[in-house]
Amino acid sequence: MHRLFHQRNNFFLYLHLLLEVIVYGEFSYEVFGFCVDMGTSSVSLCIPYVLLAVKSYLFYLCSSRDPGTLTKANHTAQLKVYQYDEKLFQQGVKCSTCQLVKPARSKHCRVCNRCVQRFDHHCVWVNNCIGAQNTRYFVLYLLSVCAMAGDIAVLTADMLLQTVLRTGLLHAHYIDEQGVQQPVGPLFIIQHLFLTFPRIVFMLGFLVFVFFLLAGYSMFHMYLALINQTSNEWFKGKDLTLLPSFYDYDLLPETSGQSPDVQNQVVCLCLASQLRPVHYG
Ligand SMILES: [Zn+2]
Ligand SMILES: [Zn+2]
Repeated sequence: MHRLFHQRNNFFLYLHLLLEVIVYGEFSYEVFGFCVDMGTSSVSLCIPYVLLAVKSYLFYLCSSRDPGTLTKANHTAQLKVYQYDEKLFQQGVKCSTCQLVKPARSKHCRVCNRCVQRFDHHCVWVNNCIGAQNTRYFVLYLLSVCAMAGDIAVLTADMLLQTVLRTGLLHAHYIDEQGVQQPVGPLFIIQHLFLTFPRIVFMLGFLVFVFFLLAGYSMFHMYLALINQTSNEWFKGKDLTLLPSFYDYDLLPETSGQSPDVQNQVVCLCLASQLRPVHYG
């Protein structure tokens, strides 16, 4: 267990791949054929595969790109990128492992054993740190997984709904234990669908769970993008009752000298500051 979370390894990468193969296998093997029979357009049926290609590319960028490793060669330039706030990030503090002075907003990742500029967190799913150079890909990757899960869930739910409507199940009746005729309710329909299409209903439940989980997580990261913070700063900032909205006015030359409050309320600008990689000297 320690190795899983505290050392770089490909376990979650393979698990991720396995879940994807199961969902896409089930979608292509069963749902796709039913959707064609129900008259779903071929464009709608192609979207999950397009999203898979987009997501795979973003995943590749997240996991393969250097998140912003602090090295002796780029250290001097990185020290100038962000200002120290002297609360969360103090001047002159050395990383005891890398033996380099920590630039503001950087953090040592214990899993990868390196200091990373504008460190957000270490993500076991992409097996890489999320930092200055790959945060934008990470946010887009989260949104792409959400879109993928949401789209397949909608297609699957539509297929099941069409099945219920076509079979006239909504107006059907059943005889209960007392021999009385009863109209079928939602619970009866769900039970019937589960018994008729067990794998499809199970997949739908899984996709809905993944969608809401990742939608919440994506919204959190979008919120962080808006306020221009990292997860690391957000969690630590709460303890310090600190709102570090002023952090990187030196980062964006076009914004320097303007009011941080105004800046941070401009959605596009804040998103741009988060989603754009930082280039060092
Ligand atoms: Zn370090
Ligand atoms: Zn890491």
